[in-house]
Amino acid sequence: MKAVVYNGPKDVSVNTIDDPKIEKQTDVIIRLTTTNICGSDLHMYEGRTSFEKGRVFGHENLGEVIEVGAAVDRIKKGDRVCMPFNVGCGFCENCERGLTGFCLTTNPGTAGAAYGFAEMGPWQGGQAELMRVPYADFNCLKLPEDAEEKEDDYVMLSDIFPTGWHGVELSGFLPGESIAIYGAGPVGLMAAHSAEIRGASQIFVVDSHDDRLKLAEAMGAIPIDMRKGDPARQILDATGGLGTDRGVEAVGYQCCDRHGKERSNYTMNCLVKSTKATGGIGVVGVFIPEDPNAPDDLQKEGKMAFDFGNFWFKGQKIGTGQCNVKHYNRRLMKLIEQGRANPAQIISHRLPLDQAPDAYKHFDGRDAGWTKVVLKPGT
Ligand code: NAD
Ligand code: ZN
Repeated sequence: MKAVVYNGPKDVSVNTIDDPKIEKQTDVIIRLTTTNICGSDLHMYEGRTSFEKGRVFGHENLGEVIEVGAAVDRIKKGDRVCMPFNVGCGFCENCERGLTGFCLTTNPGTAGAAYGFAEMGPWQGGQAELMRVPYADFNCLKLPEDAEEKEDDYVMLSDIFPTGWHGVELSGFLPGESIAIYGAGPVGLMAAHSAEIRGASQIFVVDSHDDRLKLAEAMGAIPIDMRKGDPARQILDATGGLGTDRGVEAVGYQCCDRHGKERSNYTMNCLVKSTKATGGIGVVGVFIPEDPNAPDDLQKEGKMAFDFGNFWFKGQKIGTGQCNVKHYNRRLMKLIEQGRANPAQIISHRLPLDQAPDAYKHFDGRDAGWTKVVLKPGT
């Protein structure tokens, strides 16, 4: 089969590799029809992780079941399914509590597992023609009748729609409250979409890219262009000096690398400043553990300092971590089915698998107009 594989920093290619096979009787094999490129892929793509050469990318996957293991019961051949990026087992202590992003079986001893990801278990990604899904009865979300028609919406259930929703949830958001979202990438835009659906009174979205800020505005948010000055100050000025009830971090540790500003604490300091006293902050942007042997300075500084004093004085709360996609995906699927959510609105490019190398280059460069790329294997 054809698959998008990692060759080294900023170097991916579409290679022919062996087809995946049923390895345990709880597996299924999926023929992918849509598989997305995510901002999280860029941590590997840019060479900032231990991602092995030859590994297949892709954790945002949707397709048709073509083969089922003998112990698979609920999922049938021919089902159209979307997989959470988390690989869960369904029976460990964490999965039982809905914390599938922290499964103790699929990546023991660390923080959860994902397809096509560094440090998150051995699972191959789905930017390919085929993929193997373990514990398929647990991990496959069976899609409704209109699965094909709304495929580009449903594929967002694999990660960014639940992750945006999770960011809002982690902030402690309640309907009628105001919220500021840092980052208008796919995750930040999905946080804005979630906040809109959940009844926010005011949504601010911070970024420095016109095309992304325009999308945020089209979703009902107030765009904050950080090129025009301190974004936290702009939000305070727009809220009578009080700030917003809630804030979401949807950028992660690489943020200031790109903007030549302070360090990876930039967005956290902004959030502490632009969130009201006693407000809450949800951090879904990825921050990584300190690693003194890491190849680049950003990874070395995992032990990030932010203005904890101000955070403490304002009595703020914080929530962090991977999204437990399975906790949300069925309910968010219903919002799509009923036409109350349309996450596909942020897609900028639909491309065949062969064009993945070019797509990575443009998406990594945050080139104008490249917001969310979905790959269509088999086209
Ligand atoms: P992205 O890199 O395309 O988006 C990030 C956006 O932030 C860009 O538009 C960039 O211009 C903007 N930005 C950079 N510095 C900024 C700053 N200082 N202030 C405001 N905006 C700034 O990626 P994405 O796909 O939207 O992902 C965002 C983050 O979410 C990444 O760290 C990704 O790994 C993470 N993520 C987390 C989870 C989870 O489960 N927690 C899931 C998916 C993605
Ligand atoms: Zn993703």
